[in-house]
Amino acid sequence: MNSSDGTAKLEVRFREALASIPSYRAGKRPVPIDGVSAYKVSSNENPYPPLPKVEQVIASSASHVNRYPDPGNMELINAISEHLGVPDSDVAVSVGAVGLCYQLAAAVAGVGDEVMFAWRSFEAYPIVAQVAGAATVAVPLTPDGRHDLDSMADAITDRTRLIFVCSPNNPTGAVVGRGEFENFMSRVPRDVLVVLDEAYTEFDRSVDAGHGVETYSRHPNLVVLRTFSKAYGLAGLRVGYAVAHRQVIEALNKVAIPFCVNSVASDAAVASLADHVELNLRVDELVQEREATTLALSKRGVDVQGLGSPGESQANFLWFPFGDDSARIAAELESRGLTVRLFEREGIRVTIAESEANQRLVELLGGLL
Ligand SMILES: *Cc1c(COP(=O)(O)O)cnc(C)c1O
Repeated sequence: MNSSDGTAKLEVRFREALASIPSYRAGKRPVPIDGVSAYKVSSNENPYPPLPKVEQVIASSASHVNRYPDPGNMELINAISEHLGVPDSDVAVSVGAVGLCYQLAAAVAGVGDEVMFAWRSFEAYPIVAQVAGAATVAVPLTPDGRHDLDSMADAITDRTRLIFVCSPNNPTGAVVGRGEFENFMSRVPRDVLVVLDEAYTEFDRSVDAGHGVETYSRHPNLVVLRTFSKAYGLAGLRVGYAVAHRQVIEALNKVAIPFCVNSVASDAAVASLADHVELNLRVDELVQEREATTLALSKRGVDVQGLGSPGESQANFLWFPFGDDSARIAAELESRGLTVRLFEREGIRVTIAESEANQRLVELLGGLL
């Protein structure tokens, strides 16, 4: 068999920017254990399979995959625009919200520019910034896991081109309220693009939930990101969307890979929007599970990020700032069938999943601490 290793020396010249780019770390798969069901609670996936109606649409969509998708994904864009009550010229779709993050960076940032985000936040942000060749500016979260928007505004320079704001924030779950966000926007120069990443907004029960889509029309330099991966349970199909000023949408489409939302994904997303009432009942159940799990953990004295404060999680996951104990606790949970997301020496993030998984989390953490 031929191997690409060893015989010939590789002399390809990669872009310098690549050397310092960390690889995206996907959530670990669960480790099978004798006699115990194992759960993957490391990737914030929806534990429910697709609705039967959506599954049927996916199956029947297979019969025409010899054709390219609907150019411009107009059917899906129309469905999203109708669902949100925004013009279809203000909507772009892509391979997940992550696809749109890449397009945003490609559209506005390059060598010599700066891309800002809070930290810790979504791991894709520093990667997309560096792929574009830009420098990254990471502004620490507050002690209760919230964006420090004043410090972020203070950190803006002439070179800042793109700012990611994540609400609810991955991995802490804390939200950015409408008032503080409006204050922040008033401090951002109008030629700097701000991304409000609302990937988890359907799980948000705070008063200002989803304010990005309600207010973007007043801010031509604001892009709101949403996804079908989390609340709508289509992570495996990769569809996300952006809502923004028409000219920002045009720029995003210029740098997109043609036909990047495939026809099966597009059909499934349209069918999911048609059934959003039924899907939202599942979201409500997961929110109830989150609240019950949080309460049970607090009764057992477990340190859940932001409990009872504005930093409380409004997403489908909880953040445990266990610091130096994080790796030990993650390993312990994994040995009992819960594969969580570990951030070494910082904390662990655990997805709210099947009831049995959530209950096991309460029992195990309650016993460990
Ligand atoms: C999961 C996630 C996304 C979206 O991911 P896609 O599957 O690419 O749509 C975007 N932002 C954050 C913060 C996420 O956690």
